[in-house]
Amino acid sequence: MRQMQRKGIYVTAATVFGLVVAVYVLNAFRVRQREGVALSTAVSPVYWAERFTGKDYFNPDRRIFYRGNRERKTVSLTIDDGPHPLSCQKFLQVLKEKKVIASFFLVGKQVDGNPDLVRMMEQDGHEICNHTYDHIRLDKLDREKVFNQIHECDVAVENAIGKKMTLFRPPGMRFSETVLDVVKQQGDVMVHWGIGAKDFVGTVPDYELTPELKKLPKTTPKLIVEYVTKQLKPGMIILLHDNPITAEALGPMIDAVRAQGYEFESVADMMKNLPNPVYVDVNPGAGNIVAKAH
Ligand SMILES: [Zn+2]
Repeated sequence: MRQMQRKGIYVTAATVFGLVVAVYVLNAFRVRQREGVALSTAVSPVYWAERFTGKDYFNPDRRIFYRGNRERKTVSLTIDDGPHPLSCQKFLQVLKEKKVIASFFLVGKQVDGNPDLVRMMEQDGHEICNHTYDHIRLDKLDREKVFNQIHECDVAVENAIGKKMTLFRPPGMRFSETVLDVVKQQGDVMVHWGIGAKDFVGTVPDYELTPELKKLPKTTPKLIVEYVTKQLKPGMIILLHDNPITAEALGPMIDAVRAQGYEFESVADMMKNLPNPVYVDVNPGAGNIVAKAH
């Protein structure tokens, strides 16, 4: 009799355990489908612990902003590697027409060559952000080199518009603990992205591409719109690059995103609209730093 009872307990426990695992896995699939979270992330208990504390949005210890509020149907537009002399003005013109505020992650040496374009961005109310001076990968560099790459880009922007930057994105999203430490020490925020338009395939040298990216067709305006709209989820950060092909895609892409019921908001607004709001002054005045004349 007692043996049968014990067997019954085991069977019940196994059934409950099986059900819990099934619900956990089903929920991971649902989260992937609804929110665009990778399955490998959605099955991780560490992810759920972070999500419980809101760290999957913004991690205050690492100072990384990952994405906006899952409950709001908004996305933000980040444009990297500019200002590009052949396409930046087109970007600015389309953004003005469509009334979208974007975040430009600028490369310092491009800023030094095209300060007028940075001034135009700033006048239009866009967010001016740091993407290093030379656009080199930072993850293998020592602290001094990392600091210099970020600092020299700061100086270039200060020379152009007399303002500082507080948002930063490392080239190729490659970073080390050293990079995180430098960013943290400066009180900056590293901005991740969630939707890639893969608009650099065919426009950058092949050696910069991963084996998977190498297999993809060369970017076209049509493909850019397709990649973005297929990946749309509430709170996602879109990554584009300042180049002529993407400039052509920008207007149709904005229209297609809005047609799916999404609105655009800047990175700072997206952070302000998190369940636990984070306030950043993206381009504070440079204080007593005097902009050098060109
Ligand atoms: Zn870049």
